[in-house]
Amino acid sequence: MSALAVALVSTLGALTGQGAAADEVTVADGRKTPAIVRALRSANAPRIGRLRQGEVAEMLGSYRGWYRVRLPNGRVGYVAARDTIVVVEPTPDPASDLMVTFVDVENGDAILLKLGDVELLVDAGKSNAWKLGLGDALDAVQGPLETLFITHPHLDHYGGAADVLANLDVARVVTNGERRGPPRDRAAQKTWSYFEDAVSSEGLRVESLPVGTILTPAPGLTLEVLATGDPQGGRFRDTGAGTDINNDSLVLMVDYGGRRLLLTGDVEVAAGKALVDAYCVNRDPATCPKLRADVLKVPHHGSAHFAPALFRAVAPTWAVTSAANRGTALCLPRAESSEALHGLGARLVSTSAEGSGAAVLTISTRGDLRWKLPAKPIFAWQKRTARGPGAKCGAPITYAQGQ
Ligand SMILES: [Zn+2]
Repeated sequence: MSALAVALVSTLGALTGQGAAADEVTVADGRKTPAIVRALRSANAPRIGRLRQGEVAEMLGSYRGWYRVRLPNGRVGYVAARDTIVVVEPTPDPASDLMVTFVDVENGDAILLKLGDVELLVDAGKSNAWKLGLGDALDAVQGPLETLFITHPHLDHYGGAADVLANLDVARVVTNGERRGPPRDRAAQKTWSYFEDAVSSEGLRVESLPVGTILTPAPGLTLEVLATGDPQGGRFRDTGAGTDINNDSLVLMVDYGGRRLLLTGDVEVAAGKALVDAYCVNRDPATCPKLRADVLKVPHHGSAHFAPALFRAVAPTWAVTSAANRGTALCLPRAESSEALHGLGARLVSTSAEGSGAAVLTISTRGDLRWKLPAKPIFAWQKRTARGPGAKCGAPITYAQGQ
């Protein structure tokens, strides 16, 4: 088949395979009372239902001053155009929309970026991540997984990588350049060796990329390395404390459709401040075009160890936390992080919901953002009441997803 014929077929496929998404009708902004739905196009016709604030009805037709609609309960009738507004849903296009799935891997990170048949996975959760939902999320991968990124060598970020390597054709593995094992810590040597063995058994090697590297894995999609570690232990010299390892996380700015998504791994206070120092004009978070992003992957599962200046510099519209559901001893996300972000006007999303907590963001080439949010609310925990065994999380604050 010629290239032209292929182009025609794929265009037709896009037109016929998907169809245009239906327009929807909702109650006009500022209107306090529901819109009345009537059996006929007349203000005197019998009422058959009501369309309340926040509800949407499928639009079936438009007539002078009236819309024919199907209500959520299936009834069909007419609403006055002056009481309502029409919402035009953009048609999703999997070939050109960037889809970002924040997989629910409980306490850990696993973020799948998919644009057409190009897929990138940023972190792979703990060793049980595959069963928790990573395996299902990766069913979407077509052809090879172009790059597996591991932001830092902690098990809640690389534990599931061996399963990813065993089950998928992975083309490239990029880490922050750091490893685990003696002399810095003996405990993680086994699991890290297992990861490295899995990489080499696929004929791959572990790569790291210097700060400033810009990747273009698909047309229009870029990822810039804003921070990373190094094989000598990194900028935040590893004392064996988890904090040092977190602070050397690989930090990536994803750019698509004029929208930006900042992936921060587990950076804590020191690395958060260092990002502000490195990228903000006069180290002022108010003037920080390099860090500004529409969406922030909240660092370190929303822990209390964050740099408020980083949140101000990013000034996100959306803040997504990847954490376990309620009832774990880690008490994440913590109220300090969620409140700081909410206070800056960010809309909160968290995989910490009960049940499936995957959150899916779609970014169109025009920069439209659409979310499929977890159904259950976010529980942001107050400070733990005590340390050690028997420690309990303080009372939770709850937020609705996306508010
Ligand atoms: Zn982590």
